[in-house]
Amino acid sequence: MKRKHYDYLLVGAGLFNAVFAAVARQAGKSCFCVEKRAHSGGNIYCEEREGIQVHKYGAHIFHTSNKEVWDFVNSYAEFNRFTNSPVALYKGEVYNLPFNMNTFAKLWNITRPEEAERIIAEQRKAVAGEPSNLEEQAISLVGEDIYRKLIKGYTEKQWGRDCRDLPPFIIRRLPVRFTYDNNYFNDRYQGIPCGGYNVLTEALFADTEILLSTEYLQNRAEFDGMADRVIYTGPLDQFFAFRLGKLDYRSLRFETELLDMPNYQGNAVVNYTEREVPWTRIIEHKFFDFGTQPKTVITREYPSEMKEGMEPYYPVNDEKNQKLCDAYRALAEKEEKVVFGGRLGEYKYYDMDKVVESAFRLLRKEGLMQ
Ligand code: FAD
Ligand code: UDP
Repeated sequence: MKRKHYDYLLVGAGLFNAVFAAVARQAGKSCFCVEKRAHSGGNIYCEEREGIQVHKYGAHIFHTSNKEVWDFVNSYAEFNRFTNSPVALYKGEVYNLPFNMNTFAKLWNITRPEEAERIIAEQRKAVAGEPSNLEEQAISLVGEDIYRKLIKGYTEKQWGRDCRDLPPFIIRRLPVRFTYDNNYFNDRYQGIPCGGYNVLTEALFADTEILLSTEYLQNRAEFDGMADRVIYTGPLDQFFAFRLGKLDYRSLRFETELLDMPNYQGNAVVNYTEREVPWTRIIEHKFFDFGTQPKTVITREYPSEMKEGMEPYYPVNDEKNQKLCDAYRALAEKEEKVVFGGRLGEYKYYDMDKVVESAFRLLRKEGLMQ
């Protein structure tokens, strides 16, 4: 165990703490990081296979409308021009995502936006008033047909519960457009670091000592003694030994295969939207970086309940969990030395750009950034 004293102890070597470490260091502060996994980078970590950057914890595409965030990440890594345009497979039929004129044209054999709008307006009548759950929200956005073919099965697999028991906001993440535009995101900036995400996280963590394969909570007092402040990015409830109960998380299981062929599915992301297929999506990693290698690596993503020994990937932001989370946040506020950040520490369904924004907010609060 190190005995040196630091300004900050960072728990978790994911993107949140990577950003924190880079800016804190520039402000003249010292950081020491503890990470329970055998590598840094958290969920954006990539592993190289056959010259292909494999997104070990699922497809990651950086997108943002925040210029400050975009300029910041670009000052640490060069980004490629990848634009996410997944396709959905439903019982052998292929549809473009997000829901746009290409989807509507194929589904209803129409060509013009007003035809699509008319059909959706008709189907939307099934929902009266403000949508109160994901099913109502989906039908009100895109109508019954799309809900049945492209949303219901996928969502119920992903979240392990009925669409009527899920909050409407989850589906509002997806754009709905009456133009022929398959870009999955509306954001102004989008791309993936050339050479994979490790290029970014390693540059952010440069000069920060990271102790890998080490669980902070098992040696908390000792680690806390090493620094003036602690930035904790692990699960919020776990920090408090689940004393108010467990927050729900969804987990995932990844099944990765190396195939002796140059092109398996012709796209980086293919969603399987029918309930009967157990995985939600297959990603073909080489296409995140326009790879031309002779072989290919694919990963099937299986949603799963959170079981002992599995990673918590998605906070479940329904009402019950939100209440419990608020109670934990009240406890967190009382911690004098420890600050909570990131997707797990804040229990928020953050994308990467939101994680960077949140790290900036904390850095400003700490007086380390203008
Ligand atoms: P994490 O990356 O989870 O890092 C936290 C780290 O803390 C982990 O390495 C963990 O091992 C460590 N840790 C936890 N507890 C302890 C402990 N007690 N002791 C020591 N170490 C500990 N965002 C996008 O913008 N675009 C996408 O396309 C996208 N796709 C995604 C796909 C999937 C399948 C998932 C799950 C997420 C996706 N995201 C995407 C979100 C993105 O992964 C997160 O926003 C981001 O990685 C969160 O960074 P973080 O630092 O908060 O957390
Ligand atoms: N979704 C869907 N069908 C799809 C893709 C997404 O119904 O083909 C729904 C699903 O409920 C999912 C939500 O839209 O949880 C958000 O999708 P996104 O791709 O943003 O999820 P993430 O990348 O965070 O897993």
